[in-house]
Amino acid sequence: MSREQKEKLPDQPSPVLLAVAGSDPSGGAGIQADLKTACSLGVYGAAAITCLTVQNTLGVEDVHCLDADLVARQVTAVLEDLPVSHIKTGMIGTDAIARRLGDILADFTGEVIIDPVLRASSGRDLFAGATLEPYLDHFLTAATIITPNRLELERLTATPCTDPNAVLTACRSLFGRCPRLRAIVVTGGHFNEDRLEVEDLLLVRQDGSDPPIKVCRRRHPRIRTRATHGTGCTFASALAACHLLTGDDEKAFDAAVRYMDTLLGGSPAMGSGNGPLFHHRFQ
Ligand code: PLP
Repeated sequence: MSREQKEKLPDQPSPVLLAVAGSDPSGGAGIQADLKTACSLGVYGAAAITCLTVQNTLGVEDVHCLDADLVARQVTAVLEDLPVSHIKTGMIGTDAIARRLGDILADFTGEVIIDPVLRASSGRDLFAGATLEPYLDHFLTAATIITPNRLELERLTATPCTDPNAVLTACRSLFGRCPRLRAIVVTGGHFNEDRLEVEDLLLVRQDGSDPPIKVCRRRHPRIRTRATHGTGCTFASALAACHLLTGDDEKAFDAAVRYMDTLLGGSPAMGSGNGPLFHHRFQ
C-alpha cells in the first residue's frame, strides 16, 4: 500500500490483526516480524505470545513454550476488547497450545491465516508434538488461509511435492481436511532452488465451479540474499494485513508477493548468519 493510500484512510479505528506466534529476540522472525510487517503496511497489530525462543541470525539455541492456558488467556483478552478481523498464527509450539487455540479459533468468525511453522530454516524443530495429528485435526481445521512452503506442505500432507501435480494433490487433500479453508498460498522459494525465477501459487477453493480449485501463479526473479530470516512469518503477516486492507484473496496475494520482493531486495545482510528483513525501510 502506498503512502498516499495510507493517508487517505479515514481517521477512525480500523480492524485489528492479531498475531499469535513465538518470540524471536533478534527481531527477524516470529511475533516481532509479524508486528513490524503489520505496522509497515498500515495495519494495527496485536500480539499473543506462544513460546519464547533464544535465537539470533545463526539459529535457535533454546525454546520455552508457555502454558496453554496463559496463551489462551492472552488471545481471549484481545478478542474480548479489540475489533479483531484477522488472526494470523505462526509458531504454536505444543499439542496443548494447538488444542486450546483450536477451540478459540473454531468460534472466531473472522479470517484465520495459519503459517504452519514446524521447523526453523536453521533446522530446529519449533513444534514439539510427537505426531502432527492433533495439530492437523484440532488447529489447522480452523484456517481460512494456509501459507505453507514446499517443505511444510509435504509434512502437512505426507506427500512429496516435487512437481506441480503433486502440489495440487497435496492442496486438494488440505481442502478436503479443512472445511473452512478457502485459500492456500504455496510460497515458491524452496522449489527448484537453482532456477533464476520463483513461482508463488495461490489456490482458491470454488466449490460447485469447474475447476473446483482456481490456481493463480506469480513468477518473479529469485533474489539471492543472506537476509532470509523470518521470510515465512513476514510473508504470512503481509498476506493477512493486505487481506485486511483489500478483502480480496488475489489482491492480497499480489501485494504480499511485491512486499516480499521489496524487502528481500532492500535488506542489507546483518548478523553473522541469515540476516533479518528491514521492514522499517518499507515505503
Ligand atoms: N522463530 C520463531 C519464533 C518463528 O516464529 C519462526 C518462524 O518461522 C522462526 C523462528 C523461523 O524463522 P526462519 O526459519 O525464517 O529462520
